Amino acid sequence: MNSILNADLHCHSVVSDGTLTPEALAQRAKANGVELWALTDHDEVGGQEAALDAAQSLGLPYLSGVEISVTFAHKTVHIVGLGFDTSHPLILEGLKATRGGREQRAREMSEQLEKVGILGAFEGALQFAGNLELISRTHFARFLVESGVCNDTNEVFRRYLTEGKPGFVEHRWASLRDAVTWIRDCGGVAVIAHPGRYAFTPTEEFAFFSEFKTHGGQGVEVVTGSHTPDEYVKYADLSLEFDLMASRGSDFHSPTESRIDLGGLPWLPGKLKPIWELIEDRIQ
Ligand code: AMP
Ligand code: MN
Ligand code: MN
Ligand code: MN
Repeated sequence: MNSILNADLHCHSVVSDGTLTPEALAQRAKANGVELWALTDHDEVGGQEAALDAAQSLGLPYLSGVEISVTFAHKTVHIVGLGFDTSHPLILEGLKATRGGREQRAREMSEQLEKVGILGAFEGALQFAGNLELISRTHFARFLVESGVCNDTNEVFRRYLTEGKPGFVEHRWASLRDAVTWIRDCGGVAVIAHPGRYAFTPTEEFAFFSEFKTHGGQGVEVVTGSHTPDEYVKYADLSLEFDLMASRGSDFHSPTESRIDLGGLPWLPGKLKPIWELIEDRIQ
């Protein structure tokens, strides 16, 4: 295996905030030429068995996956776990605790939106969420589009739900140490998701990468649907500087909302070490 592999190691199903089932995602990945796939729902592994079964019936190599919400330096970051044991109590309990605060947060988001004249957002968002424990900003975004407040989800995140805008509620997620430790102790590798999305100063970013390494983190997404071509270059360099293996994933959520389809990204730059070489033995 080398860097020229259509690996897509980041996407979401209806189990978290995607719009397709794990089975439909597997079929779409296969049809789009994906050669190694992982479903990485937010803070939940409930879709893993269905994803693995569907992938195996299609002859699509599969890695277990999850995307854990983490608070670092008062900001939310995401850590992807790959190739871990999805039935291990340590990760199951850690993810359950991480999901725990979402309902209360969603109620507070709704109260804020009410103050700017948007009524019924909690109930509205809940209609889009399969699982109350996993109600997310994406579900609020779908409600705001559906009810005509915004034209699309991009507009939602420009006007609402983000820091300083109505509907943003500061939240305490898992610690970086805990998230990396759960993944590692369950046999997997931890990967920094879409680093280009965090509004860190250079000093904070350095601290984030350094602490991630200290806790045992081994990878970073370089080519992701969230990065610009300039960011592919920046994070390719940072992955070499920090001696982190590189990952590649579309972060696909929905055929109508996502800019990049499953399997639709450029290759990883050839000078990087692909993360899948480290966990070849965990491909199912
Ligand atoms: P939450 O975990 O509830 O904070 O929701 C985070 C999710 O919201 C992310 O996983 C994305 O799916 C979505 N999201 C956040 N920011 C944006 C954005 N600027 N544009 C589109 N989707 C976004
Ligand atoms: Mn999401
Ligand atoms: Mn993310
Ligand atoms: Mn994601």
